[in-house]
Amino acid sequence: MGQGSEESRVIIHIDMDAFFAAVEQRDDPALRGRPVVVGGPPDSRGVVCTCSYEARVFGVRSAMPCSQAWRLCPQAVFVRPRFAAYEIVSRHIRRIFSRYTDCIEPLSLDEAYLDASPGHLMPVGRALVAACGSRTGAETGAPDPMKGGRAIAHSIRQDIVRETGLTASAGVAANKFLAKLASDMDKPDGLTVIQPAMVREFLATLPIERFWGVGKVTASRLRSKGICDGAGLAARSRDELVRFFGKTGILLWEMARGVDERPVEPERERKSYGRETTFQRDIESLEEIQDILESLAGEVAAGMDASGVAGTTITVKVRTADFATVTRSHTLPRPTADARVIFHESLALLARTRAGHEPLRLVGVSVSGLDHREQDVLQPDLPFPPPWRASGQG
Ligand SMILES: [Mg+2]
Repeated sequence: MGQGSEESRVIIHIDMDAFFAAVEQRDDPALRGRPVVVGGPPDSRGVVCTCSYEARVFGVRSAMPCSQAWRLCPQAVFVRPRFAAYEIVSRHIRRIFSRYTDCIEPLSLDEAYLDASPGHLMPVGRALVAACGSRTGAETGAPDPMKGGRAIAHSIRQDIVRETGLTASAGVAANKFLAKLASDMDKPDGLTVIQPAMVREFLATLPIERFWGVGKVTASRLRSKGICDGAGLAARSRDELVRFFGKTGILLWEMARGVDERPVEPERERKSYGRETTFQRDIESLEEIQDILESLAGEVAAGMDASGVAGTTITVKVRTADFATVTRSHTLPRPTADARVIFHESLALLARTRAGHEPLRLVGVSVSGLDHREQDVLQPDLPFPPPWRASGQG
């Protein structure tokens, strides 16, 4: 990518703290200080989307079945997700990022990588870097690029708290892999900088599961070879790792040395809005599938509504118990973002699948053929009135 040497980059990873749960606690004072689980009702098949830090104390975690969360923490308040509210905050924090840099890669609603290297900074970002004495240009002997990165991350975190009433954690480092590890080190409401000089020492004790791209399979293969942490990884030759793991071996060898050349890739314009869900157990009842489809259609509509887009093509996807996946689509004469229209069309499409005739393991709905025209009108680049205060003013 011709990004220059590894030292010259400043990457920031921003991650909102317990995002969905934090939004719920912000908007409903009765939930503050209490264990909150965002997800289906406790007796449902649903899984935990996010839980508050008060719930984590009891061992509740994201992606855990709600029934299990309830057993661990029966006093928890279970709240249904409100994706429209999360989408609005998500768009707001992206606008905050864009004040500082033109290179933003969102990973999800509440997480993003920012390239805060000199070439990407907006005037506000450049001024911050200059003010803290970290040079931006081609001047010789640039002292400490991380100093500027810290100042920008600090300022972004302040903007987020002030304008959304929510906290975020940030990590600053020379690449994506390290920045993401850094943001996780002092959660919630933390800011961690990994200086280039600290990297080798920091990685030495890091369990191999925490290295980017190492899933369960690679981790168990590494452990079976006695490689359990960064130091173990760094001790192996590049040839040896390539022999064991092919191309992944090169990445592992580089990461053990703190090298990660992946660029921050700005988001392309979104092509569709969709949600799907995999069931805990296969479902044959058509009524149950239709209920699930209704809530998925509602989530899709909420996301589109918050983004000010509408679309013409509705697609339903189902996967049967034997992993065969089928999609059915229909294109409407005019764009829609209406939950009832999306649901109504989805029902007709569902009737053209095996739903109700054989067990399904997944169902999803999406809307494409998007019309973005309204987007800028609905989202002026101004801080929107904070709802958590407006409600108190009556
Ligand atoms: Mg988060």
